[in-house]
Amino acid sequence: PGVLMVQVRVAQVSADHLVVLAEDLTQARRLEAIRRDFVVNVSHELKTPVGALALLAETVQDAADDPEAVRRFAGRMQAEATRLSALVHEIIELSRLQVAGALGQVGLVDVDTVLSEAVDRARTTAEAKHVRLDIGGVRGTRVLGQHDLLVTAVRNLLDNAVAYSGEASHVGVGVRTEGELVEIAVVDQGIGITAAEQERVFERFYRVDPARSRDTGGTGLGLSIVKHVAADHGGEVTVWSQPGRGSTFTLRLPRAEEQPTPSVTELSVT
Ligand code: ADP
Repeated sequence: PGVLMVQVRVAQVSADHLVVLAEDLTQARRLEAIRRDFVVNVSHELKTPVGALALLAETVQDAADDPEAVRRFAGRMQAEATRLSALVHEIIELSRLQVAGALGQVGLVDVDTVLSEAVDRARTTAEAKHVRLDIGGVRGTRVLGQHDLLVTAVRNLLDNAVAYSGEASHVGVGVRTEGELVEIAVVDQGIGITAAEQERVFERFYRVDPARSRDTGGTGLGLSIVKHVAADHGGEVTVWSQPGRGSTFTLRLPRAEEQPTPSVTELSVT
């Protein structure tokens, strides 16, 4: 820390011209440390559902002559397995995003299609809670990037908005343009997040209330994934919230120009 390490390459391009390339190695070291932390976090997070499954399996064996108990424990095993599978899926998604050049091939993405796909996928959980889901705002905006990743990001925000809202409340997703930016805002009237916690919710595996998050099937990775998707698209995600009144998560992405030029995406960490 505090020391900048560079690897320098020099090439002579003509009699009186040298080209000097300096590559920042501190970045590589920082990435290495982040990967190490990630592996430690992941092992810790996987232990909980795996341990619960082992315990439930033992309990089922002990309850073999009580069909009602077997059914109950089997149901809980199924819930744990679903959670474990969501966790593994998100870990894979996040580690893919943490690798350089994660975006790969980019293309013009229609924001309206992204929103309607994300809303469609979030609808089942919303309906189960009688939460109304609405889309609003300007139409026809486009960004340069990867359709599926953007759907995942908006869907994660919508899933949270529904999960941390009460029965029969209202969740909205809206688009507007602000100069060179497209802003996608997901608004809920749910439990909200205190100022101190707002700074932490984008961290990997951070949950304000782990017990509640477990009930909602949360993994603590959703917002971290959104943050990476935003950064890989040259944008950002921010939160405004008041406890007890609700939250608004805003995804800001650069608007695609009429004649898109391929862009090189930079690796984002943290
Ligand atoms: P999780 O899978 O636990 O929802 P996330 O990374 O998506 O993980 O979110 C991290 C934490 O931020 C959540 O556990 C929750 O405490 C808080 N949070 C996220 N979205 C909202 C929201 N819309 N309203 C209130 N709290 C939220």
